[in-house]
Amino acid sequence: MTDLILRGGTVVDGSGAAPVRADVAIEGERIAALGDLSELSAARVIDVSGLTVAPGLIDTHAHSDGHLLRDAQHAHGLLQGVTTEFITQDGLSYALLSAHHLEPYGRYIAGLYGPPPTDLDMSSMSAFLSHYDGKGCNVAAQAPHGPVRLESVGFRDAPLRGEPLAAAERIVAEAMEQGATGFSTGLSYYPNSYSDTDELVALNRVVARYGGVYVTHIRNHNNDRAPDGSGITEAMNIGRRSGVKVHISHYKTYPQNAGQVDALMSEIDLAKADGVDVTLECYPYAPPATVPGYFLRGECHDGGLEALLGRLGDPSWRARLIDSLEHLFPGRSDNAVWTWIGAEHLQHLQGVSFGDAAAMMDLSVSEMMITVMRESGLHCGFRESPPASATVARQIEADVIALLSRDDYMVGSDGIPFDDGVPHPRAYGTFPRILGRLRRRHNVPIEQIVRTMTSLPASRFGLRDRGLIDVGKYADLVVFDEATVIDTADFSDPRSAPSGIPYVIVNGQLAVESGRPTGALAGQALSGHFAS
Ligand SMILES: [Zn+2]
Repeated sequence: MTDLILRGGTVVDGSGAAPVRADVAIEGERIAALGDLSELSAARVIDVSGLTVAPGLIDTHAHSDGHLLRDAQHAHGLLQGVTTEFITQDGLSYALLSAHHLEPYGRYIAGLYGPPPTDLDMSSMSAFLSHYDGKGCNVAAQAPHGPVRLESVGFRDAPLRGEPLAAAERIVAEAMEQGATGFSTGLSYYPNSYSDTDELVALNRVVARYGGVYVTHIRNHNNDRAPDGSGITEAMNIGRRSGVKVHISHYKTYPQNAGQVDALMSEIDLAKADGVDVTLECYPYAPPATVPGYFLRGECHDGGLEALLGRLGDPSWRARLIDSLEHLFPGRSDNAVWTWIGAEHLQHLQGVSFGDAAAMMDLSVSEMMITVMRESGLHCGFRESPPASATVARQIEADVIALLSRDDYMVGSDGIPFDDGVPHPRAYGTFPRILGRLRRRHNVPIEQIVRTMTSLPASRFGLRDRGLIDVGKYADLVVFDEATVIDTADFSDPRSAPSGIPYVIVNGQLAVESGRPTGALAGQALSGHFAS
């Protein structure tokens, strides 16, 4: 007698092995037996014949740090079959912030996460993780670069050296000891971009000592601080010099380089041949989404939230702010769309394009962006628009499938979930879009796609006993219909739930049943376990 049996399904075990017919028995949090279990009885038996049973999906890049604290159920990930989310991405998070930095930095990143949870202790990795235990899904984290810098040098435009660097190294080491799976940065965000390559090498030597992973949104600001070259070159050199495992966030083609997968990967493949250990991730949509401060140069951010808000309202800064927006966000800004705005008097702009919003306010696009940032106190986010040409959009999707056919690519939604506004659909549709729509269009073997979303991220980030269906592993499972599973979220109806995913199990408990969330909060805060 066991707790639960999924009977008659086709098991895709996550390893990349071909599908097999097998029953799966669950006892407590773990998988208890596998195979022909017709002799075994259970408190509950679910007939999953005709359906596929896979390990719960792992989202390597989710901006859920705020949403999970407001909505423990967090159903939009579960409904896609996602049972583990990696938060603290791009080096932007509450983790490791002392009480005195939590409020101002929390407000500085509110365009991604909403208003900050100022009543919680976030000052260590273990305190941070404790707030994410008992949510709908499992959660894992990295030591985020922004808070590491704030706690060592403040919101200042200077690379870490000397005692502040030593302090930062201690903070990263302590976070690794308390369960971090690595170190994350986004070198187009602040204060992260104030770093240089030497700082990142030093911090990642600490990460490498623990076997963790350097997760990077590569540099495209302050490129002069990467003397060996920017972006991928810097990331590869950090791997080479520190010995750390490198993971490149949301690395994919966009309209300007659609179809150029070989060029995209050439420098990485050379570095790998040279011994750098690299993995990557992507999401299956053409346009990105972020916060508008992304396009303001470092001088505008120096000093942090209040300094930036002051400059946004200071006539003597006007020309510099506009010059920054026009140089760093050229050509595409008219078609960008406000996804979420925290200020009530501006919420009618949610879902409105920047061109239309500027016309409504009788301002230029750059002036409108400055006004919205200032009047919302940075509580605002946006996305870009899909390419006008469907052929380009389709090519980008074909590129995603080509990338996921490599053995080093995973899926990170880069989702920024909000319960109001008009968010980017990637938070709601990424996994079924790849698992159903794109896999079928490109005829990819199911076991190959499932591996990219399960055992590969689990082993890379040290998630012990997850990402595989086998006796003794945690019972994180998704049951879906290979023939019909599909995303329905799109740019005008982004929160629409996928279909074809009737059951999701988290740590042995049914989290989704008949396609609906059960209310179970069985998720755990996970630690990285690395053989050293
Ligand atoms: Zn991101």
